[in-house]
Amino acid sequence: MVDRMGRRSFFAGLCTLGMASQVGPWIGPVATAAESGRRGDLKVTDVQVLQVTGKSKRRALYLKIQTDGGVAGLYGPIDNEAGLFVERSFKRPLLGQDPLAHEAYWDRMFRADRHSRGSHYLIGLSAVDNALWDLRGRLLGLPVWRLLGGSRKSVQAYASCLGFSQEPAALQAKVRELKEQGYRHQKWFVRDRGPRFGPQGVQKDVEVVRLAREAAGDDVDLMFDAYWQWDLQYALAWARRAEQYHPRWIEEPFQTANLEAFIELSRRTSIPVATGEHFYGRWDVHEFLKARAITVVQADPEWCGGVSELVKICTLASVHGVQVVPHGHSLHAAMHVVASQPLEVCPLVEYLIQKMGTYYEFEKHPSKPVNGLLELPDRPGFGIELDESKIQDIRPISWQQT
Ligand SMILES: [Mg+2]
Repeated sequence: MVDRMGRRSFFAGLCTLGMASQVGPWIGPVATAAESGRRGDLKVTDVQVLQVTGKSKRRALYLKIQTDGGVAGLYGPIDNEAGLFVERSFKRPLLGQDPLAHEAYWDRMFRADRHSRGSHYLIGLSAVDNALWDLRGRLLGLPVWRLLGGSRKSVQAYASCLGFSQEPAALQAKVRELKEQGYRHQKWFVRDRGPRFGPQGVQKDVEVVRLAREAAGDDVDLMFDAYWQWDLQYALAWARRAEQYHPRWIEEPFQTANLEAFIELSRRTSIPVATGEHFYGRWDVHEFLKARAITVVQADPEWCGGVSELVKICTLASVHGVQVVPHGHSLHAAMHVVASQPLEVCPLVEYLIQKMGTYYEFEKHPSKPVNGLLELPDRPGFGIELDESKIQDIRPISWQQT
């Protein structure tokens, strides 16, 4: 079933989300809702997955959680699978509940499904958790990074160079260009080869490192991402020869399921080993940390269980003295959590240069690094405001139950 919503009624609805520029319609509901929030009788009245279609014909999904106090939380873009699971598993148990009691809700949902430990179930729960954090921020008039106790008004971004040419001259030119733009941390990809390419594959993947280092000089951190295309022997052969160029980390040499390979690689190379964009929940992280398998945790707050779960993961990482650099599938949740944590725990945010160019095209304030820094918004919640001038159509969508 698909409900249509006219542009006019939708943008009138934005007022109650605090997304419209008019302040008047926003103040009243917030004051009332804040009082209800204090009393504990604020209730969720609706959960909608909104499909936004731009004038460019691109589409994105946003999750909206409405309360009886007139305040709503908004989060997105969310993955299709997240939307599906929101509707299938998370919507009904949230209706009528206190939106501020997110810990109780998260725990209840985690116990509610025998497959809750991973994958799309937790991706859906992440979307709900993040929208509830946004709602809390709008209710209290504070950005999420402040609610989490943060004091940093900007965070250091690293340039994630997925999609750029690896032809030597182009690669080196891009490294220099990004350095001039202020990116003192850059990640390049070595995911096009692997064991079936033999020693020549290793040689080419080392050459990427050499070229990048030569162009970057010694004052830029260089990271490399193999996107699980390697095996242990290939990774060891690469690491032996790449160590001389001092990479800051080698990311996802293997699939996350291959814990033993991570342990062995970490034991046998001086290059820090990173993984975690496919961690689901604190328990996955704990397995890797107690085995000393990695020194950089890359849990993604849109996949691992949301802002609430990523904060717990940061605490866990701090106990083990390792860093958390969230995966850059998206920015809102990641940058607010990073800003709330000590620099020693969360030094960086991933900024996927090519993806982020259009990812937030429906928003008024897409975050973009300046001189390598991402500024945190002062707007309530995550500070997401949809941009009417770029939107052609918006409608709640649902998936047929089977
Ligand atoms: Mg990666």
